[in-house]
Amino acid sequence: MSNRVAVVTGGSRGIGRTICTELAKCGFDIVTCYTRGAQAAEETVSCCRELGVEAYAYQCDVSKEEDVTGFFARIKEQFGRVDVLVNNAGITRDDLMLKMSEEAFAQVIDTNLKGAFLCSREASKMMLKSKYGRIISISSVVGINGNAGQVNYSASKAGLIGMTKSIAKELGGKGITANAVAPGFIQTDMTAVLSDDVKKALLSNIPRKALGNPEDVAHAVCFLASEAAGYITGQVLAVDGGMSM
Ligand code: NDP
Repeated sequence: MSNRVAVVTGGSRGIGRTICTELAKCGFDIVTCYTRGAQAAEETVSCCRELGVEAYAYQCDVSKEEDVTGFFARIKEQFGRVDVLVNNAGITRDDLMLKMSEEAFAQVIDTNLKGAFLCSREASKMMLKSKYGRIISISSVVGINGNAGQVNYSASKAGLIGMTKSIAKELGGKGITANAVAPGFIQTDMTAVLSDDVKKALLSNIPRKALGNPEDVAHAVCFLASEAAGYITGQVLAVDGGMSM
């Protein structure tokens, strides 16, 4: 019997790469995508293959409809199924609202929110055929609490939570669950740009008194992707050391 298939967007590094390898450890074949990091994405693929599963990485900008339809057409041709979709691809273009350009707002919404919509729509077509699916979107603590300097990013992450609940209501009767994972501050390229002072200030607001690792997020995703989580849908699982309490 062939493996189940997990599609993880933005798997070339950071949280996405770790989600790919942790899902591979659970026995999923992996398909991931990236925009620029072809070589890094191939490293993710190699790590997954070493774990004994099939893995592929394709260039696909999730904010572009033609890229996303092409990406899923390829997956359909290759595997004929998608069991798990992880909407992980995300960007930041931070600035205070008064200084934020329309372009910075649109870029973040298009990648983080529209991208997840386009991927969920295409993946669910295949999930509906098999009457089984797990759609997991990586939101953020700032989608729950907001954050100064991130009106675009927090709006996109809050939007993912609303979208997740709507998908859960639309597709719950068809064996498809939709959930969101809301990480706090996780050590990746995205947060490496923060100064030590900012990190220190953040730590003072985290009850667990530590920044998170990509593994912390990936383990939550693996649980929501599992058979064991079949009765959980429309939920937001915070992986934030208690930050959003
Ligand atoms: P990184 O910046 O380290 O990685 C982002 C990944 O997304 C890369 O693989 C990148 O590949 C890919 N990507 C970016 N834009 C696109 C696009 N348009 N189409 C396809 N792929 C794209 O981010 P993190 O690993 O830190 O974050 C992963 C997710 O977790 C994001 O959604 C982020 O918002 C969320 N998150 C992160 C937190 C953190 O503290 N790090 C906290 C809360 C949420 P390439 O460069 O090749 O395009």
